[in-house]
Order: sequence, then C-alpha cells, then structure tokens
Amino acid sequence: MSIDPAAAERLKELVGPKGFTEDPRQIAPHLLEWRGKYRGRSSLLLRPHSTAEVSRILAICDETRTPVVPQGGNTGLVGGQIPFDGEVLLSMSRMNRIRDINSDGMSAVAEAGVILAQLQDAADRADCYFPLSLASEGTCTIGGTVSTNAGGINVLRYGNMRELVLGLEVVLPDGRVLDLLHALRKDNTGYDIKQLFIGAEGTLGVVTAVVLKLFSKPVERVTAFVALPDVRSAIALLHRMQHAIGGLVSAFELMPRIGLDMVLAHIPQTSDPLQTRAPWYVIAEATAGANSPLQEPMEQCLAVAIEDGVATDAVVAASETQREALWRLRESLSEAQKPEGGSIKHDISLPIAAIPDFLLRGGAAVEKLVPGVRAVPFGHLGDGNVHFNFSVPQGGDSAAFLARWEEISRVVHDTVQDFGGSISAEHGVGVMKRDEILRYKGTGEVEAMRVLKRALDPHNILNPGKVIEL
Ligand SMILES: Cc1cc2nc3c(=O)[nH]c(=O)nc-3n(C[C@H](O)[C@H](O)[C@H](O)COP(=O)(O)OP(=O)(O)OC[C@H]3O[C@@H](n4cnc5c(N)ncnc54)[C@H](O)[C@@H]3O)c2cc1C
Repeated sequence: MSIDPAAAERLKELVGPKGFTEDPRQIAPHLLEWRGKYRGRSSLLLRPHSTAEVSRILAICDETRTPVVPQGGNTGLVGGQIPFDGEVLLSMSRMNRIRDINSDGMSAVAEAGVILAQLQDAADRADCYFPLSLASEGTCTIGGTVSTNAGGINVLRYGNMRELVLGLEVVLPDGRVLDLLHALRKDNTGYDIKQLFIGAEGTLGVVTAVVLKLFSKPVERVTAFVALPDVRSAIALLHRMQHAIGGLVSAFELMPRIGLDMVLAHIPQTSDPLQTRAPWYVIAEATAGANSPLQEPMEQCLAVAIEDGVATDAVVAASETQREALWRLRESLSEAQKPEGGSIKHDISLPIAAIPDFLLRGGAAVEKLVPGVRAVPFGHLGDGNVHFNFSVPQGGDSAAFLARWEEISRVVHDTVQDFGGSISAEHGVGVMKRDEILRYKGTGEVEAMRVLKRALDPHNILNPGKVIEL
C-alpha cells in the first residue's frame, strides 16, 4: 500500500519541517531490524515533539484510515517496530525529555523517546537507581521497553517493566489522550488500564510518557563468575546464594562454554576469567545498601558450593573494572554469535526446575533435524528465561539453515509447551510469533485479545498485523 497523498500532506503540515522526512537515506536505518531479519518499507517518517502532536497525528490517521507503526530505538527482536506494508513510521526520538526526577517520592517521569541509559544516568545523578538493564540500553527507549514489557538482567530482584511502571500517558488510536500519569503505589479504583498498554507492542495506543519507580542506589555490590558441571547445579547454586545473601541476588545469568568461546574469539578485549574449562558458567550479582557487606557471604557460599561439587571454580570481581569485564562476557554473547553464521533464536521461559530436562530434550530434537547444529542456550536463569539459540553447524550453509527457522521453532515451541512454558519470555510477539501464539494460547484468550484490539482500534490503524491479526 502507499500513503494517501492528501493524508501525507496534512501530516507533514501538522509536524512542520523538523517533524518529518521523506528522504529514503534517512528513513532506511529505521526499516531494518537489528539482526537484519526484517526489512520494511515506508515513504514517510514522522518525528512528533509533543503529546499534542501525537494526538493530532493519530486523529488524522484514524480519519483517513492511514496505518501507523510506532518506533522507539528499533532494537525490538520480533519485527514489531518495522512497517512491512508502507505504513507511516512514527518515531518517538524527539520526545526525549525527562520531565521530572523525584528522589523523595522515588519516581521519575520520562517521555517515550528517552534512551534507557539516559534515564539510568539521570536517576544515578539524583542518588537513585533505575534497575531495568539490557544489552541494548544505549539505544532502546522508555516507550519501547514499556511497549515490549522488557526484562533484562535485574528482573530476579526488581521485576520486568510491567512492575516498574507507576503511570502512563498514552494516545489512543483515534487521538484521545489518556492521562494515567499517577505516581501512586496503591490505587484500587477498578481496572488497571495502564497495564493494557504495557507489552501491547504499539497495537493499542502510543505511549508518550511514563512514571517509573526508582529505588535506593546499591552501595554494596558483589559480582561472581562461576564454573559449573551442569545446569542442575546452576539452579542449586541459585537457591544456595539466595539463602546465603538474604534474597539480595539481583542477577543470575547462565552461559554455556560454547558461548564463552564465541565471545573470546570475536569480541576484542575479552579474556577467560578462569584457568580451567567448564561446560557451564553463571554470572551472579548481589546488591545492597550501605553497611550490608556482601563479599564475604558470597565468597563463603561459593567456597562451600565448590567443596560440595555444585560448582567447580569461581572468581569474585575485585574492582569495578573486573566487574565490567565479567559482564562484557555475558552482554556480548548475542553480538559474538553473528560472525559464527546464521543463528536461530528462541526467547522462552519455563518453570525453573524444568530447565535442565527441557534443554536436553529440546536440544536433542533440534539435533535430530539438523545434525551438528550448535546449541547456545543462555540467559536469565533466575527468571526461568532461556535464549535457546542455535548456530548453524560449523562450515554449514547459513542461508539453508535459516530457511528452516519455522520448522526448528515448531519443534522447540512444542517442547516448551510440553514443559508448561511460554514461547515469548521478554521479546514479545510482533510478527515473528503472531501466528505461533494461536497454536499455544487458548481460544478464549485469543478472542479476548481481538475484542480488546477492536474496541480500542476499530479501524485497525495502529501497528496492524502485529501481535494479533483481526
Ligand atoms: C542486543 C540486544 C539485547 C537485548 N536484550 C534484551 C533483554 O535482555 N531483555 C529484553 O526484554 N529485551 C531485550 N532486547 C529487545 C528489547 O525488546 C528492546 O531492546 C527494547 O525493549 C525495545 O525498545 P525500543 O525502543 O528499541 O523499541 P522498538 O524496537 O522501536 O519497538 C519495539 C515495539 O514497541 C513498539 N513501540 C516502541 N515505542 C513505542 C511507543 N512509544 N508507544 C507504543 N509502542 C511503541 C513498537 O511498535 C514495537 O512493536 C534486546 C535487543 C537487543 C538488540
């Protein structure tokens, strides 16, 4: 489809010269997804600078039945932010003001286009802490992380975005503005409407501003890199650590040896922190306020775990530089998979206790389809969230491997279902899993999603074809 020229003129006039571009070179980076898996097309990119402008844009789009795709930092991994059919692209990049940081009320008000890392820094300067942390935090936006209900490395302790939002400002598909910008921690006045828009991937409304919870700044921090004989031991270690450190464990990230080898081979300035090789590793971090020393209980916990054979070796970061070096190993894992050829990724969650058996059964099922496939499962073990990724067999044909994405995912997702898990833990549905969720969700739930979409977006102009097809 192409955008109706009369509608395009009205939109351009509304936002003025700074608020749009039709230059294909400027639009191009917005059309390609981070991994190069999805490429879209659009001839008009709008960059509104206020909620009032977003409201008028959507009113025009609704009236003229012009479809719109909201976009934040374009780091989404399921194609939700990509306009596949020539839709208007609505970039939130100019709505990038932090409206307020309230260190007494422990909350911040940020516009949708604020980059996550900027919000973290602003909280830090106010002697507070915003815990959402992802490898894409230098690019992804507050609006995007709300709309995908992003998770990341601190969910174990602080929850995902759904738990970090106190209030929202959102523009409905017909242009009405819902002002839900409350900073209340308790509000039981009926339906919690804001939750509808969190994780809706831009299909029910455009988020323009968010009230976020802030926390007291961690003063004590301990970070360990631990070698383990198997995944069952990693789960046992998590329980021991939670017990030893009084529930202060904020991150517990699993990495397989093959993933570490990929990082060491492809990411500059990385080195193996341990002398001996192990099949699995965990990066664990605990944080606390002042006068709550963590180093000693962590070291004791690890020493006993090694003595008991739960872990085989461990190192505790002795400085901030060492801590950053340990985290670099984990955070570069996705990047390090790229030079290894095509990889097929699954963002799944499972009951934590089921993970070891799932990895064995799921891995064997994919190996049966593609002999020699390299399983690289890693992720947020403490949340039961595994990025169950597979790299093309060594020396194999990447294109032929990637062509089997759906076939491989079907086997993986069926296995996830057998173990009572979810086929999307934190990345969302977008287009990638839109048809897949129909297989795994009950018909009542799917119909309720359609009812909601029709009620809020009767002309289906907002991110059509994403999450749920009408
Ligand atoms: C290297 C890397 C690591 C990642 N790690 C994690 C991780 O650990 N945990 C995790 O949860 N995710 C992770 N992600 C993916 C994650 O989804 C994004 O990083 C982030 O949440 C999306 O934010 P964004 O601003 O880039 O949104 P975009 O990609 O631009 O958009 C994502 C979705 O939100 C919608 N949207 C964007 N802004 C708005 C708005 N203002 N109003 C309404 N809808 C909107 C879009 O239409 C789209 O459907 C990672 C991605 C990368 C590239």
